[in-house]
Amino acid sequence: MSRSKSDKQTLLMMLLVAIIVVLLIIILALALKKQKPKTDNSPKVQPTVLAENDYIAFLDVGQGDGALLKSGDTSAVIDNGRPEGAAAFCEKLKNLGVSNIKTMLLTHNHDDHMGGSEAVSNAFDINNLILPDLSKSGSPTRILGTVSNTVSSAGGNVQTAKSGMFYDIGNIKMTVLCCYYQNSDENERSIITLAELGGKRFLFTGDAGKQAESQMINDGIDFDCDVLKAGHHGSRGASSAQFLALCTPEYAVISCGAGNQYKHPHEEALSRLINAGAEILRTDQSGDITFYVLESILKYKTQK
Ligand SMILES: [Zn+2]
Repeated sequence: MSRSKSDKQTLLMMLLVAIIVVLLIIILALALKKQKPKTDNSPKVQPTVLAENDYIAFLDVGQGDGALLKSGDTSAVIDNGRPEGAAAFCEKLKNLGVSNIKTMLLTHNHDDHMGGSEAVSNAFDINNLILPDLSKSGSPTRILGTVSNTVSSAGGNVQTAKSGMFYDIGNIKMTVLCCYYQNSDENERSIITLAELGGKRFLFTGDAGKQAESQMINDGIDFDCDVLKAGHHGSRGASSAQFLALCTPEYAVISCGAGNQYKHPHEEALSRLINAGAEILRTDQSGDITFYVLESILKYKTQK
């Protein structure tokens, strides 16, 4: 009897030990699983950027420039087209889910770039308005004066662009690379901006031409990019071979209107862009051109 009882006790003890051992193995396995990322040697890749959430769109504004940088609920605008296209531009932003604008940067004081500013500032709250230095501008500054008042009255910041200014637009990083305000030509005074999304670089040059391009080269500015918004709507006066050799864009976006009076883009600029290995995309032919990054690969879609 006592032996049987002792056997039972031994059996129970063994069972208990077995359960404890199994539990310890489970706990150990879970602990090792938790530690695994610390010893993960997989290559470092950029976080996946979802196309529908994070993108840079060159919007078709006819003969002019207007771009939307959007990351989730955070938006930035670089230029906003002509005054006559302002209502359509605002409508487009609303359709794309823009509710307020964290940063609006206007490359220079020409109305094919900042003509929509009054309408945009009336339709959306703008946290930061970034302007070129208007003190030596050769063009009327009424529109930008009005917009500055609208933005500052609503509590937004109004700043004159300086090299190195940085704006966090969700997953998009936006940096002012340079601005050559000493230049007498309004186009050559354009603010040059770099936007980075998912490890890809987008260069916005406004209407800067060969003069500003040479200055950027001489100043040793790193303007290497994946997507170039070709300067001055593809004018022959911009996108020099020397500039493109350092720029090495995979894509060149030309923002221009069909049948425009300036005959943009010019053949000479197109040839130089093609020779530099860039795939050319035009808003007059494709409509809105939207870039996104998927699994570290740059992709685009177009919509007329
Ligand atoms: Zn222009």
